[in-house]
Amino acid sequence: MAARDAVEKDYYKALGVAKDASPADVKKAYRKLARDLHPDTNPGGEERFKEVSEAYDVLSDEAKRREYDEQRALFGAGPRPGAGGGMPFDLGDLFSRAGGGGAPGGSVFDGLFGGRGGPRGRTAARPARGEDVEAAVTLSLLDALHGAEVPLRLTTTAACPTCRGSGAAPGTAPRACGVCGGAGVTQRNQGAFAFAEPCAACRGTGQVVDTPCGTCSGAGETRQERTLTVRVPAGVEDGQRVRVAGKGGPGERGGPPGDLLVRVRVTPSAPFTRSGKDVAVTVPVTFPQAALGAQVRVPTPDGAGVTLRIPAGTPSGKTLRVKGRTGPKADLLATVEVQVPTALSDEARQHLEAFAKALEAP
Ligand SMILES: [Zn+2]
Ligand SMILES: [Zn+2]
Repeated sequence: MAARDAVEKDYYKALGVAKDASPADVKKAYRKLARDLHPDTNPGGEERFKEVSEAYDVLSDEAKRREYDEQRALFGAGPRPGAGGGMPFDLGDLFSRAGGGGAPGGSVFDGLFGGRGGPRGRTAARPARGEDVEAAVTLSLLDALHGAEVPLRLTTTAACPTCRGSGAAPGTAPRACGVCGGAGVTQRNQGAFAFAEPCAACRGTGQVVDTPCGTCSGAGETRQERTLTVRVPAGVEDGQRVRVAGKGGPGERGGPPGDLLVRVRVTPSAPFTRSGKDVAVTVPVTFPQAALGAQVRVPTPDGAGVTLRIPAGTPSGKTLRVKGRTGPKADLLATVEVQVPTALSDEARQHLEAFAKALEAP
C-alpha cells in the first residue's frame, strides 16, 4: 500500500536535507551525493546511490513531494529524530519484496504515486506480457551454414486455464487476506526503522484462496508443454541467439505473448573453423606445389570437397576464397600452408641441394 511505503522511507534523510528544504537545496544535496556516490567512482556504493536517486526522484518533483509529505503526515510516519545513526535503509530490498515482482525501471513510483487508494493487487489486474522463454539448440556446421528447421519442445508457465490465474475453484473467488488487509506486506520494526515484509499468511499476494482450483492446486498457474518448429537462418554462428517473436510464454489478461530466445550451439567440425560468417580451412601444400602452382583437393563442409587451383608462387599463409560451395552466406577461406619436410630421402636431399645451388647462381 502506497502509504506504507511513504511511511517507511525517509527521503529527506536519504538526501541529508531538512523537511522544509528548498528545491534548490534538494538539487544541490543530490548533485553532491550523486557525485560522491556514483558507482563508477565509488564501487560498492550502488545501494546508497540508488537510495539517493530515488529520494531525489520524489523530492525534486513538486507533486510527488507534496503527496509524499501528505502521506507521511497522515500516517504519522518517519524515523524518530536523532535515531538511527547512519543505518541505511535497504531500499532495493524493500522494493523487490514489497513490490510483488516490480517491473524494471523503478516502477515503485507507480505503486507509490500512480493511483490513490486502489488495492495493491491492481497491478496484477493489468494485461501482462508473457515471459520470454529461453531454449537452446545444437546444430552441425552444415546445418548452421544452410539454415535448419529445428523442432523444439517447450515448457512454459502460464495462467491456469481452469481458474484463469486466480487459484480459486470455479464459482469461488479469492478474498482479501485478513492479516495484511490485502496489502501483501506486513511491517516489522527494527530500531528506528520499519521494514516491509511479504505477508506470511498470504505469501505476499494479499489474497487467500479458501477453495483451491483443482487443476493448479491454487497456484494460479500451470506448466504447459508445446512443440514448435524454429527456423534457424542460414549463416548462424555459435553462441548467437535467434529471437522468435511471440513464441514465448502466453500473455495474461489479454497481454501479448513473450518472445522465444533460442541460443544456437554449433558443434565444432574439424578441420573447419568459423571465420565470422565464413568457414576457414588450412590447406597443406609442398614447397614445389606452392612454387610451381598446383591443383589440390580441399574438403568442404558438405563432404564433397572442391578442387582448388594454387597459382604458381603462392606464399605460405595466403588465403584463397572459394565462393558458392559453403552455404548461401558463407565462403570457404582456404589458407595455404607450405609444409617443411622433417626427414629427407637421399635423392630428395640431392635435388634440394642442387636447387639451392641454382638459386645462388647469377
Ligand atoms: Zn496477507
Ligand atoms: Zn487453477
